[in-house]
Amino acid sequence: AKLSGRECYRLHQPEDGAGDRRHQMRMDHAMRQGLAQQRFRLHYQPQVDLVSGRIVGAEALLRWRDPELGEVSPAQFIPVAEASGFIIALGDWVLRQAVWQAAQWQQRGLQMPVSVNVSALQFQQAEFVQRVADTLAEHGLAGELLELELTESLLQDGDETLGRLAQLSAMGVRLAIDDFGTGYSSLSYLKRMPLRRLKIDRSFVRALPQDESDAAIVRAIVQLARTMELTVIAEGVENEVQRRFLQDIGCDEFQGFLCAPALDVPSFEQRLVNPPEATGPAPRPRLTLVR
Ligand code: C2E
Ligand code: MG
Ligand code: MG
Ligand code: MG
Repeated sequence: AKLSGRECYRLHQPEDGAGDRRHQMRMDHAMRQGLAQQRFRLHYQPQVDLVSGRIVGAEALLRWRDPELGEVSPAQFIPVAEASGFIIALGDWVLRQAVWQAAQWQQRGLQMPVSVNVSALQFQQAEFVQRVADTLAEHGLAGELLELELTESLLQDGDETLGRLAQLSAMGVRLAIDDFGTGYSSLSYLKRMPLRRLKIDRSFVRALPQDESDAAIVRAIVQLARTMELTVIAEGVENEVQRRFLQDIGCDEFQGFLCAPALDVPSFEQRLVNPPEATGPAPRPRLTLVR
């Protein structure tokens, strides 16, 4: 007799689940080795001022190449690291590496704020705030040159969270909400946090400006940011039409392939020296705007 689709599903489910778990354990092991063997690196994605076209910041994004697994995307390995707790060690490495890099730039006369992604588990560590303070002190970096990107789900905790945010903010550290619009934060709670900016999630930017509900959501977020006196940055901007729309509605900054993907440090520095419009005859989006 023929198996129904459902029976096929049942037959294969346990095996696939176990395979997944095995794969995750293997990846977790490979990550731990990778950290010890310095196989992780940080790339930096430019954050661009929508009016001046200047690069005003850099988001540190993890990159990992394993000799057997090859280049693995953070979308794959971050959830595994979060599930196993390895994200605490990995996140600490990211923090130190990014602060070191910003301090290097500062010593060379470049004030480039660096944004670091923080996982919930990392943020919930009792010593997190102290780790940040120690890392800044160790490298002699002003808190203002470090931004922490937090997600809405991480911020649902109450007074404990507010206390930590207040301590970070008192150190000058900038606080941003990443992937804004995808979580369920209450606005009255948001208002009590010492935030500096909102990052509009890429999912709302992708279909701009044709998708009317996405356009309305992005407009609403920009207005909300205005009202709360926060700056607002849009992620995932890939074309000039999106950029133009965001500029027209008063968004402050953008990040996206239109300017550059996350770049290794030499390429990032190169980009600062040579804006795209100066690099060759190919028609490039104009990033420097004269109004
Ligand atoms: P995220 O923090 O929201 O970062 C933005 C992601 O969008 C990055 O993917 C970036 O490369 C990608 N992106 C930027 N501009 C564009 C664009 O114009 N088009 C498209 N299609 N994509 C764009 P990436 O580097 O793969 O990172 C994925 C996620 O992994 C990040 O999302 C973040 O949640 C997490 N992640 C990366 N590095 C770290 C880290 O050091 N620590 C933690 N906890 N999470 C990290
Ligand atoms: Mg981010
Ligand atoms: Mg983001
Ligand atoms: Mg995102």
